[in-house]
Amino acid sequence: MTLRLIEGGRAAADAPGLLIHGASQIATLAGGIRRGTAQGDLALLEAAEMGGPGASSAPVVACWEGRIVGVGPRDLVEPGLEAGGLPLARFARLDADGGVVTPGLVDPHTHLLFAGSRENELVLRQQGAGYLEILAAGGGILSTVAATRAAGHEELAAHGRRWLEEMLRHGVTTVEAKSGYGLDLQTELRLLEVAHELGREGPVDVVPTYLGAHAVPAEFRARPDGAEAYVRHVIDEQLPGVAAQGRARSCDVFCEQGVFTADQSRRILEAAAGYGLAPRLHADELAPSGGAELAAELGALSADHLHVPSDAGVAALADAAAGEHPTVATLLPATTWFLMEERAAPARRFIEAGVPVALGTDFNPGTSPTASLPLVMTVACLEMRLTPAEALAAVTVNAAHAVGVGDEVGSIEPGKAADLVIWRVSSVDQLPYWVGADLVDTVVKRGRVVFRDAL
Ligand SMILES: [Zn+2]
Repeated sequence: MTLRLIEGGRAAADAPGLLIHGASQIATLAGGIRRGTAQGDLALLEAAEMGGPGASSAPVVACWEGRIVGVGPRDLVEPGLEAGGLPLARFARLDADGGVVTPGLVDPHTHLLFAGSRENELVLRQQGAGYLEILAAGGGILSTVAATRAAGHEELAAHGRRWLEEMLRHGVTTVEAKSGYGLDLQTELRLLEVAHELGREGPVDVVPTYLGAHAVPAEFRARPDGAEAYVRHVIDEQLPGVAAQGRARSCDVFCEQGVFTADQSRRILEAAAGYGLAPRLHADELAPSGGAELAAELGALSADHLHVPSDAGVAALADAAAGEHPTVATLLPATTWFLMEERAAPARRFIEAGVPVALGTDFNPGTSPTASLPLVMTVACLEMRLTPAEALAAVTVNAAHAVGVGDEVGSIEPGKAADLVIWRVSSVDQLPYWVGADLVDTVVKRGRVVFRDAL
């Protein structure tokens, strides 16, 4: 961490306060979940409209002991801090140097922990192989399951650390991490434990999700009633163990034609809810499978993928979106792009229907080997016609709600965690525009600088 001095000469690391100034824009995302025409409302503070970045009325963000305590014009925020008993002399100063400040990004859909890689499948798919052919050739998800079952705790933790660091370098401060490459109780518990430990280690927060129903494992596939037998195993054997361990916050199911039916998904998610695990769903990725409808019916935190939802599914999510706790449509455009699909999920339809849209990487070794949410924003703008502002709301406030942490992170508002990114661009619209560039200057987690670009 670069040493920065506060007034009076003490090191920034010792200061309980942090004051970020000199930003060209601060995208606060204040005001709650975004839907419909508000999807692209960033609640933006612009220095150019407030006298310029150096003016006394320029926008600043103030943090104290890990929380945001003020955001707005400096000549209003600073006196407010003093009046509130937070002496300005105890704030380290951080100059955004004309950059943009946003909330720390939230990746609401990752398969963070696995062993091995599957780059060979890219070439197979280029040659025209489909999902089932790759599976028959010993590839696909089951090859990752075999590698993951063989991997120990430390190997998985080292892998997780490596990729969390990559995410942090792309501005991510909170990550949802699914299990689901174990498909047996012992390995599922190991994945959830490692995810929990990595979150405690920091600096990136990790929110573990149990995804035992990710696929039917090989040992059940040989049986004629394999999927149904595995569903019973998940409900009767795995869920009680996962609940007793207490690491998972939510439960996810791959509801898809040929994987788990809507009825099987409902039974798993209702059983999980009985243990206090919030429902979420992989829904309608390959074919309309009733996933969107089920997510709305269960009041799921999010319905994910939604590549090919039915009309009834979109309508059900729209109905749910009118309520206080909408189900977020978490779209994963890097996956469809990497799979060379002809078309992307109907993001504009969701926005027009008033359904809040989030974006995730879907980081996984088979269909989306990227840890970069800024790249996902670019793909969302190009393939799904999201505006840059809509994409930014989708990886901050809406993503936080999709993970169930919308009261804690995802926007720059007093009381929330001081998770912030300073970007080396002068306008938020440039975030998806400089395709694939490293734009992160500084990442602040809980009020402390945890990453600074070496440049
Ligand atoms: Zn997924």
